Amino acid sequence: MSSLKERYDAVCSSATQAAQDAGRSPSEICIVAVSKTVGVDVVKEALAAGVVDFGENRTDSLLPKQAAYPQARWHFIGNIQSRKIKDIVGKAYLIHSVDRRDLFEKLEAAAEAAGIVQDILLEVNVSGEESKSGFRPSEVEEALREVSACRHLKVCGFMTMAPQAEQPIIRATFKGLRVLRDQMVGKVSASNISLDELSMGMSGDYAIAIEEGATIIRVGRSIFSEEFANTETKS
Ligand SMILES: *Cc1c(COP(=O)(O)O)cnc(C)c1O
Repeated sequence: MSSLKERYDAVCSSATQAAQDAGRSPSEICIVAVSKTVGVDVVKEALAAGVVDFGENRTDSLLPKQAAYPQARWHFIGNIQSRKIKDIVGKAYLIHSVDRRDLFEKLEAAAEAAGIVQDILLEVNVSGEESKSGFRPSEVEEALREVSACRHLKVCGFMTMAPQAEQPIIRATFKGLRVLRDQMVGKVSASNISLDELSMGMSGDYAIAIEEGATIIRVGRSIFSEEFANTETKS
């Protein structure tokens, strides 16, 4: 048996260890607790355990939780449906999953209407799997040029998901996102683009992601599932 606080503390320690092993400062890494499988009561418990950043992948679950705990930072990490954009903009501290160009105009309009600048990440399909959403790496430069005209959006960096594969392939995916970011920093400069953030790594692979430069990890099961956390420590 483990408590949520024990599991969260364990993730914090492993992330700290991974950062130190990679010669990075642990303070560079933000742990987003992906609370998509749990209810508002568990969010309350997580806040008490010290969680600051939460991730949700559906507006249906984002809105009630954000309304109950507006003091937390709510990250939107799921598929963005055009008709839900006005519910996400302004509620989300950071939108990780901007995966296609037609969203720019809609996000911009919603942010302008709300009178805010919305922080976003571009989701990149580094591994090239058909099943994954996101910009192809070759499309990212053009996308950045286009979004640079959106004065109510700020691009803070990139997000990716690794394939379910062997470790070298996972590592190559994360490294690919970092290399792409380094290339884009040199190529596209605009006042609303600063590509400091790399959102990559989940319960199964966040240590590798940190070694490859992640600044944000999105961790669900290791924090919220007792079963998953147990198998993790046994293996
Ligand atoms: C669910 C989810 C996560 C968390 O995955 P775990 O394996 O539970 O840590 C991270 N990112 C996205 C986009 C997700 O949908």
